[in-house]
Amino acid sequence: MNAKFQELKHRLAEIVDLRMISSLLDWDLQALMPPAGTPVRAEQAATVQRIAHERFTSAEIGRLLEELQPYEEGLDPESDEASLIRVAHRDWEKARKVPVELEGEMAQAAATALPAWVEARRNSDFAAFLPYLQRAVDVRCRYIACFDGDGPAYDYALDDYEEGMKTHEVDAVFDELKRELPALIAEARANPVDDSFLAGPFPIDKQRELNAVVLRQFGWSPDSWRFDEIVHPAAYHLATTDIRITTRYAEDSLESLFSTMHEFGHGLYERQVDAALERTPLAGGVSLGLHESQSRMWENLVGRSLPFLRWLFPRVQEVFPEQFGSVDVDEFYRAVNKIQPSLIRVDADQVTYNMHVILRFELEQEMLDGSIALRELPDAWGAKMQEYLGIDVPEDRLGVLQDMHWSGGAIGYFPTYSLGNVMSLQIWERIREELPDLDSQFEDGEFGVLRDWLRENLHRYGRKFTPQETLVRAAGAPLDPGPYIRYLKQKVAELAGAAA
Ligand code: ZN
Repeated sequence: MNAKFQELKHRLAEIVDLRMISSLLDWDLQALMPPAGTPVRAEQAATVQRIAHERFTSAEIGRLLEELQPYEEGLDPESDEASLIRVAHRDWEKARKVPVELEGEMAQAAATALPAWVEARRNSDFAAFLPYLQRAVDVRCRYIACFDGDGPAYDYALDDYEEGMKTHEVDAVFDELKRELPALIAEARANPVDDSFLAGPFPIDKQRELNAVVLRQFGWSPDSWRFDEIVHPAAYHLATTDIRITTRYAEDSLESLFSTMHEFGHGLYERQVDAALERTPLAGGVSLGLHESQSRMWENLVGRSLPFLRWLFPRVQEVFPEQFGSVDVDEFYRAVNKIQPSLIRVDADQVTYNMHVILRFELEQEMLDGSIALRELPDAWGAKMQEYLGIDVPEDRLGVLQDMHWSGGAIGYFPTYSLGNVMSLQIWERIREELPDLDSQFEDGEFGVLRDWLRENLHRYGRKFTPQETLVRAAGAPLDPGPYIRYLKQKVAELAGAAA
């Protein structure tokens, strides 16, 4: 093999090691570290990130990439080698445009805004958060200014999370959702579903037991996964053979069960990336949208489906005989699929969730192009909640202050949640065609065939191809909200029919 390629690969492997160490520091901070370690940990994390950034954006990497150009042209573009050079080159060009001082300032702004946001949310005090938000937006705008293109500012915000996706493409998808969803929300409102038995109490040790049963059945195993409890549920990967998912529990809800399935979906994507890509920049999910398509698939398309619940519900009844002794599986199915407008995005159902995202997507564009003053955000938020979901926002804690994303400068992130929903159904329709037997497998608690399909058609590629190319490989078509809208219509009709 080409010696220069070997050198590039070696250098990139070290940079990936540093990034994984940085993830480990973050996981440890969330899961194990005593709280007083926080300030020093912030410095440690910044040091590792800076070294990784400096090494990656170095002139030597640029020189190697340059010199490997002819070698790449002689390779099969789909090979691991050609993909590594191509993707590293693209990443390098992008990373080089951002001065290291600005990188540091972004990290610093995020680190100081996070505790300010926690405090402001606790007190429902938007004014106290405003200066931090202003700085977050200013820094984000300076970051965007590093890329001298002619598209709207939001294109560059989006590109960090969904590479190559343009604002107008998101607009086209969201316009269709905005056209179709209000009627579905109204229909669901007219046919209320009883979910009173989901209020618990569900003792936490019993919930742990249930989550463990589901994870094992899905394909979690202790040789390459961990499962821990932390404040903000998430999935971490330190290697394709070291996946760490997390959850949190509340006695008055079974939400942890579904959030655990969600994080499993994220974890499985990383677990099933081709082992040959380990310690390269290609080892990982290709975009947040495709990542979310996987978490939503396990949470909603598997986890809230009737065939799966036929397998699961007897086990739920066994663990919680008092709460579910007189409930049947159809009632349970309707309850966990209930559609009802609510204030908090992370608690929202499958239909209204998208309106929460669209609201944020619209406000973020105005924040970046300056057409809204940040102090007007709470009012603008309230007006859109009224328009899209017909509900009042009683306090900012339950409105504009609910998400942590903006405090960290993550403007452009939210659309990927709904794009993930859309992609999940595109991929799902293809899976249903190719695996007609899926329902009876779920009823038997069999998920290996689905896992294998996902590995073969999506997960194994990692970051070899662009998000758009990867979606076409998995779903057979570019981004299209049609399958998702069909799915939601069918679900709403089913729930309405069942309630009548
Ligand atoms: Zn997720």
